Amino acid sequence: MPLIPELEKPSLPPSLWAATATEEPCQAPPLTGEASAEVLVIGGGYTGLSAALHLAEQGRDVLLLDAAEPGWGASGRNGGQVIPGLKDDPEAILEHYGQDVGNRIVGTVGGAADAVFDLVRRHGIACDAVQNGWIQPAHSPQALEVATARARQWERQGVDVRLLDADQVHAMIGCQPLYHGGWLDPRGGSVQPLSYARGLARVATSHGARLHGNTRVLRLQREGAEWRAVTGSGEVRARQIILATNGYTDALWPGLRRSVVSLFSQQIATAPVPEELRARLLPGRQSVSDTRKLLWYFRLDAHGRLLMGGRGEFSDRPTLEQGKPLLAPLRKLFPELTDLPLEYSWAGRVAMTRDHLPHLHVLEEGVFAGLGFNGRGVAMGTVMGRLLAELAGGRPPEEMPYPVTPLKPIPFHGLHRPVTRMLIHYYKIFS
Ligand SMILES: Cc1cc2nc3c(=O)[nH]c(=O)nc-3n(C[C@H](O)[C@H](O)[C@H](O)COP(=O)(O)OP(=O)(O)OC[C@H]3O[C@@H](n4cnc5c(N)ncnc54)[C@H](O)[C@@H]3O)c2cc1C
Repeated sequence: MPLIPELEKPSLPPSLWAATATEEPCQAPPLTGEASAEVLVIGGGYTGLSAALHLAEQGRDVLLLDAAEPGWGASGRNGGQVIPGLKDDPEAILEHYGQDVGNRIVGTVGGAADAVFDLVRRHGIACDAVQNGWIQPAHSPQALEVATARARQWERQGVDVRLLDADQVHAMIGCQPLYHGGWLDPRGGSVQPLSYARGLARVATSHGARLHGNTRVLRLQREGAEWRAVTGSGEVRARQIILATNGYTDALWPGLRRSVVSLFSQQIATAPVPEELRARLLPGRQSVSDTRKLLWYFRLDAHGRLLMGGRGEFSDRPTLEQGKPLLAPLRKLFPELTDLPLEYSWAGRVAMTRDHLPHLHVLEEGVFAGLGFNGRGVAMGTVMGRLLAELAGGRPPEEMPYPVTPLKPIPFHGLHRPVTRMLIHYYKIFS
C-alpha cells in the first residue's frame, strides 16, 4: 500500500496553473526496462529538476524519475511567490547556529530569490517572472514590531528593504485598512509555478538530462558500489542518488518521511478582477504574505485573477466548495470583489521541519536528500537542487555553503492527525 495514495493516480490535478501554463509539458516517457546513469534524481519538482539541470550543466550523466509528471507535486501547484529568507530572522539564525554556520544559512537563503530569477533569465524560461518585491504586512501592532525588526536585520545584511507605514501598505495592496504597516523586500517576486517547473525540465533535458514521468521508485538496493532503483516497469543503476520528494516523501528511505511533517496548503483564484479595479489593486503587482500564524498570502496572476492561499485540510484535488473558506479573508481585504466568481481551487503537500530550516542530508555514501521548505520552496527548492548537485559533484559537506545535517526523524511522527496537529502548534511551525 503506497503511503501517498495520490501517487497511484498521477494525472496533473486541475488548477489555475495547469490551465494557463505557457511552457509545454516536457517529454518524460515512463521508464521501461533497464537503464543506468551516474546520478539518479528521484522527484521532479524544483528541487529535483534544479539538481538535474545543474548536474547536466556540469556534464554529468543524470536521469530523473518522477511518480507523475515533472511539476506534478507542490512545484506545479503553489502560489508562485518567490520569497527569499526563512521564517526565522537572520540574527536569530546567527545567534542559534553561530557565525560560521549562521552566515552560511543566511547567505544561502538570502540569495535564493535571485537564484530563481537568474535561472529564468539565463535560460529564457517563459513563466511570467517578475522580481518586483514581496510585501509582508503586519496584522497587529506586535507583529509590526517583529516585522520591522526583521526588515532592519535584512537591511544590516545589505538588503535595500523598505519600511512601510499603514497608509503605504494599504495603498500598495489596495485593501481595507486591516494592517498596521509592514515592509517590502525587493528581492522577492513571482512566477507561474508550473511554467517555471516545466521550463526547468525543458532546460535540464536540453543539457542532456534524461527525464521519465509516471515512474515511481518502489525500492532502493545497494549492490556493490552501485544503487539499484526498482520501479514498476524497470530499474535504474546509479552510483549516486538524490532524493527530492519533499511533502510527497514516501517510505523509500528509512526515516526520511518521518523527518518532516507533510501538510496540505491550498489556493483559490477568482475570475479576472474587473479592469476598473485593477489600477488600485496591487498596482505594483507584488506578492504578499502577512504575519498571521496561519498566514494569508495573495497576489494577482498575469491575467489579473486574485489568488488567495492558506492552510488546507483536504486533498490533492479539493473541490471549488472546499476552497470557499479562503473567500473569507479575500472578502475582508477586498469587499468589492465579493461577487467575483471563484474559478479555481487546488492544493498540494508542503513539508514542515521542527527547526523551521530546510534540511540537506548525506544519507549514506553517494545518497543525498534535500527537503523541508516549510511552505517556501519556490526559491529555496531551486537552491537546494544546486546544493545537491554540488554535493554529488564531490564538494565536501563541511565546505558546502549550507550546512549538511544528520537525518533526525521526529518523535511520535506516526500518530494520527489530531496529534500531528498538536505537534504542529507545539513546534510553532507556522510562526
Ligand atoms: C498550495 C501551495 C502553495 C504554496 N505556495 C508557495 C509560495 O507561494 N512560495 C513558495 O516559496 N512556496 C510555496 N509552496 C511550497 C513549494 O511549492 C514547495 O516547497 C516546493 O514546490 C517543493 O518542491 P520539491 O521539488 O522539493 O517538491 P515537489 O514539487 O512536491 O515534488 C516532489 C516530487 O516527488 C515525486 N515523488 C515522490 N515520491 C516519489 C517516488 N517514490 N518515486 C518517484 N517520484 C516520487 C512526486 O511525484 C513529486 O512530483 C506552496 C505549496 C503549496 C502546496
